[in-house]
Amino acid sequence: MRKRFAIIGAGMSGMLAAIKLKQRGIEDFTIYEKAAGLGGTWRDNTYPGLSCDVPSHVYAYSFELKGDWTCRFSPGAEIQGYFEGVAAKYGLTKHFRFNSEIARAEYRDRRWHLSVQDGTTDTVDFVIAATGVLHHPAYPDIAGLKDFEGPCFHSARWDHSVALEGKRVGIVGTGSTGLQIVPAIVDSVAKVKLFQRTAQWVLPLANPAYSEDEKAMYLGSPERLRQSYDFWAQRFVDTFARAVVGDQNELQKIEDACRANLEENVPDLKLRRKLTPNYRAACKRLIMSDTFYPAMQKPNAELLTDGIGRIEAAGVRTKDGMLHELDVLVLATGFDGHAFVRPMEVVGEGGRRLADAWAVANEAYRSVAVPSFPNFFMLVGPNSPIGNFSVIMISELQIDYILQLVDLVCDGKCRAVAPNAAASARFNAALREAMKGTVWVSGCKSWYLDRNGNPALWPWSFDRFRAEMQKPDLEDFDLAA
Ligand code: NAP
Repeated sequence: MRKRFAIIGAGMSGMLAAIKLKQRGIEDFTIYEKAAGLGGTWRDNTYPGLSCDVPSHVYAYSFELKGDWTCRFSPGAEIQGYFEGVAAKYGLTKHFRFNSEIARAEYRDRRWHLSVQDGTTDTVDFVIAATGVLHHPAYPDIAGLKDFEGPCFHSARWDHSVALEGKRVGIVGTGSTGLQIVPAIVDSVAKVKLFQRTAQWVLPLANPAYSEDEKAMYLGSPERLRQSYDFWAQRFVDTFARAVVGDQNELQKIEDACRANLEENVPDLKLRRKLTPNYRAACKRLIMSDTFYPAMQKPNAELLTDGIGRIEAAGVRTKDGMLHELDVLVLATGFDGHAFVRPMEVVGEGGRRLADAWAVANEAYRSVAVPSFPNFFMLVGPNSPIGNFSVIMISELQIDYILQLVDLVCDGKCRAVAPNAAASARFNAALREAMKGTVWVSGCKSWYLDRNGNPALWPWSFDRFRAEMQKPDLEDFDLAA
């Protein structure tokens, strides 16, 4: 029987879901997107220096590898261009409905009833929420933030009408974002002041450009490109993915590399001390850069570690009483990584609200589904193995798993499918137990941790994730007849 689908979100995961539906001959779906265009995080983030610190060859759909990336780690605009090209090539254009935020999704009379912000409605059999993780900007709760008289914006809402050349620029935040912005602007601004609350471990990672010969070689040889994809994927699995979930040898290697990077590249002992973290490497998301330390040693760069007291009309006053006068203030203060699916109101079977199910914590069954929410699936949902890894590969494994459940309904084996409460509880209890062995709870604060201090990540090996995503265990699901 023909079924209708709604995909929510036109970023990497939503587009992936659409392509996979089309590959099964399913055309009756709409991709709802609240913004005016596709691309998700790559549409929203346009700050100077933006690039992906996952290698280009592995940061692409496995079925649509690209041989002519300009460098090992692609700039954001190039990735956005890749997704635009994929959307056109796979015929997604007619399925997008932009400027259409889903306000509410309610499961009633065996179907999902969607209300769009603009007042229109839709009724579908399946919802695939591909609403992203690092999406809602987190604005810092700093006294006087509104008093600043110059331009002030979040890194994910970059104001390109503001020219930085020759200006005094303040940057709050030393995450992956802040540490990419500094090297990108230091040579053109009069002064860059980086306000650091917590030092970061930085893994040195060069970003060489691919030569024309290399690009031609990868374009001409899908096998070589596939080998490069497999190589980088396996490297992450063998090293980083192991280190964070308990392999002390791998973790030590990463920490040693970070420490050596700091010692070899920051000779000034006072600056080095300020840049030395007091927690284990990879406890926060690891920063990859070989340009940050050199940038911080340029004469017009300054690292402020006294803490921000308040923000005033003319600049930032640090806790030591100093006023740092600024022309522009950039908030590289990250995202709310726990707002999964929100603010959409989702009402499942028997009027059960997702907001209530998640009142204490975002708990899903294997990241993709929630008990009492039949035929509702998530891509890159809670506890997906995100971190320093290709989220595209994760999303691909999840959609293949989800579509096996969808098939049960489409093939008439059941009317609806949702994980059962006992299986979900078992899974989440095991997650909590396994978290105790991860580096994320070894003594730092990060966006990984939810309000209860629990990491929203996958605490086991990537191989286990891959194995668990191969085939749903139907014992764990309620199949409604
Ligand atoms: P982030 O890692 O969450 O960093 C936010 C920064 O803002 C931290 O240094 C934090 O300090 C600081 N901060 C927040 N509130 C503050 C306050 N009130 N006062 C002073 N400092 C404050 O955010 P992000 O750098 O945007 O990165 C988020 C994630 O996006 C990354 O971890 C990564 O997953 C992804 N990302 C990836 C790339 C890439 O692939 N290259 C690039 C950018 C982002 P504390 O550390 O003290 O909390």
